Amino acid sequence: MKNNYSIDTVHAGAKREKSDHAITESIVQSSTYTFEDSQDLCNFMDAAALGKADGRVEYGRYGNPTVAHAERRIAALEGASDCVLCGSGMAATTITLLALLSVGTHVVITDDSYRRTRQFCRTFLKRFGVPCTVVPAGDYDAIESAIQPETKLLVSESPTNPYLRCLDLERFAEIGRRHKVYTLIDATFATPLNLRPLEYGIDLVVHSATKYLGGHNDLMAGAVCSNEQLTGLVRQLLGVIGAVLSPQEAFLLIRGLKTLGLRIARQNENGQRVAEFLENDPRVVRVWYPGLESHPEHAIAKEQMSGYGGVVSFETTGGLNEASRLVDSVNIPYIAPSLGGVETLIEQPSLMSYYELEPEERLSMGIKDNLVRISTGIEDTNVIISDLEQALAKI
Ligand SMILES: *Cc1c(COP(=O)(O)O)cnc(C)c1O
Repeated sequence: MKNNYSIDTVHAGAKREKSDHAITESIVQSSTYTFEDSQDLCNFMDAAALGKADGRVEYGRYGNPTVAHAERRIAALEGASDCVLCGSGMAATTITLLALLSVGTHVVITDDSYRRTRQFCRTFLKRFGVPCTVVPAGDYDAIESAIQPETKLLVSESPTNPYLRCLDLERFAEIGRRHKVYTLIDATFATPLNLRPLEYGIDLVVHSATKYLGGHNDLMAGAVCSNEQLTGLVRQLLGVIGAVLSPQEAFLLIRGLKTLGLRIARQNENGQRVAEFLENDPRVVRVWYPGLESHPEHAIAKEQMSGYGGVVSFETTGGLNEASRLVDSVNIPYIAPSLGGVETLIEQPSLMSYYELEPEERLSMGIKDNLVRISTGIEDTNVIISDLEQALAKI
């Protein structure tokens, strides 16, 4: 496995000297910014036109100092030259797609990408004259043959939800490079501590910072990391669309980032141990976790990742009701969507994200009724496991 733990999440990307000699970044709660006189304004405008305003902005939709501190920290963790933060993960994804695509272009997206991202591509982008082709994840020939002369972007995710499928990023990036098509990876489940897609030649990385990066289930944010040419396009459109992150949220995100290293170390351990425990339990039919040798992409995950994360999916014996009985019998995990926070969460995808679909439709999308997803938090591993043990006995 790779070792990314040497990244120091307390200090990476932070300025040593902060305002007013504080140890923390300050929350700049301001919608507008002032100028000393007309000359000061003109100087700023001239500098901004040349991209030399040195972080100064004139209005809150174009930037905020607290948000900028959070952006620098995430860029440093990701090994990116720049990061743009938005008000949610979906804002980050959709604004990036809108910034890069235009009528007449085409997108290729893998079928296990985040459901709302797929929906955005298939319905909204189509309405604006941007068709998309959905291809099976892990089928590199299908990805390649879906590329047309109009194709501008390949979109995928690693690890994916709910089966934690892992993409060979080097191969994916190489296909993009050979066809002169941008590659975008949603790496929310991995975090930059477990996987850094830019190192494999991926062009853009998106995170729902609502999940691990924030880490406390108390904020929504989204990040786009890339080179300054591409983040510049995203930032420009964000300033028009206005789905900006608030300074309060940015502060909470910074606070969360400082403990990311500790949290991910614990969540990697909790994920691995819970997966191993479940795999050895007769009431569990199958476990999906990239850290298990039984996982179809274990080899590629082992090569490219430095940890496998806190999310484990598994199938119980029986069907919908047996899985529900397990979910209803646990004491520690909360029943809730989302993942990556300090609290362990549990859910049945068939009743959560896919509830409105008919059972056959869900199944055709690979969502089985007996599937349970657990996002381990930072609780004591033994406590989570003994809770699961007593709940399994109630199936
Ligand atoms: C949650 C999530 C998103 C969407 O992020 P929000 O912050 O909820 O808008 C996108 N991709 C993945 C993989 C996610 O888990």
